[in-house]
Amino acid sequence: MMMSKVQPHVHEERRIVGRFAPSPTGPLHLGSLVAAVGSYLMAKRGGGLWLLRMEDLDTPRVVPGMADDILRTLEALGFQWDGEVIRQSQRTDAYQAALGRLMEKGLAYPCGCSRAEIARIASAPHGKEGEPVYPGTCRHGLPPGKPPRAVRVRVTEEPIVFEDCIMGRVREALDRSCGDFVVRRADGPFAYHLAVVVDDAEQGVNQVVRGSDLLFSTPRQIYLQRLFGYKTPAYCHLPLVTGPGGAKLSKRDNAVSLSAGRDLCKDGGALLLAALRFLGQSPPFPAAAPCREILAWGAARFDAALVPQSPALFRMGCL
Ligand code: GLU
Repeated sequence: MMMSKVQPHVHEERRIVGRFAPSPTGPLHLGSLVAAVGSYLMAKRGGGLWLLRMEDLDTPRVVPGMADDILRTLEALGFQWDGEVIRQSQRTDAYQAALGRLMEKGLAYPCGCSRAEIARIASAPHGKEGEPVYPGTCRHGLPPGKPPRAVRVRVTEEPIVFEDCIMGRVREALDRSCGDFVVRRADGPFAYHLAVVVDDAEQGVNQVVRGSDLLFSTPRQIYLQRLFGYKTPAYCHLPLVTGPGGAKLSKRDNAVSLSAGRDLCKDGGALLLAALRFLGQSPPFPAAAPCREILAWGAARFDAALVPQSPALFRMGCL
């Protein structure tokens, strides 16, 4: 498999390197628009770089054409990324090498359990995301006759603690929240946690701004960074976008792309202004302002201290 080039480390040690990492499983949605705006402005506010990475590893969920649709939508909204777009589907050699390092040190091991088997272990407690905590069945070797399926990384009892710049202090003991977790899935692909950690480190990313649906994935990623000897970036998790009454947004209301029928020439400015207000900012523009001007204002004035923590509705045209 080909390994695509990652950005060279052209930045100075302290230059902010942010990134936006959408999964092309559908058109850009309001939550990912908020993540794009937040990550872009927090990188640009500090004179930093903003990299773009397509997280297209989960091939059964990837929808053909959506990666390009997302890129065209971002362009229509006035975003400019630094360097070439990285595609995870072309980086499997890098993930394989990283997994090899874990296996060599005995930090990861093959596991033969199916989801159903893990769920059946009646006493298995459940972690934060409602998934059963892996009971460690294959930790000391595969039971006789069990073929390997996934690969798991060994966790320890020592809690992972980090300071999120928006959500505050997060503390999690991985042995209780998820147990030894999967780094290569039974159906083949490398797990998101492994890929994201390898990519962020190799791209020199030192500031991760994304939706808070990933807040409780972060301790697993920090744990992997420590095993690999990578630096931990600064983390900023943005509030989630909800529908009315806290419900999930419908696909139609949520889609932001040109292909989903949004006229971004007409609506682009209003969408960016709504995203800025959602993030607690007060941009001084009428709804019809050009996208580039709005982003330039944000790059000069975005204030992370104003970003709220709680999930909220995304309101277009609310002043
Ligand atoms: N690909 C993930 C998503 O679209 C984001 C991953 C990340 O920012 O770390 O939800």
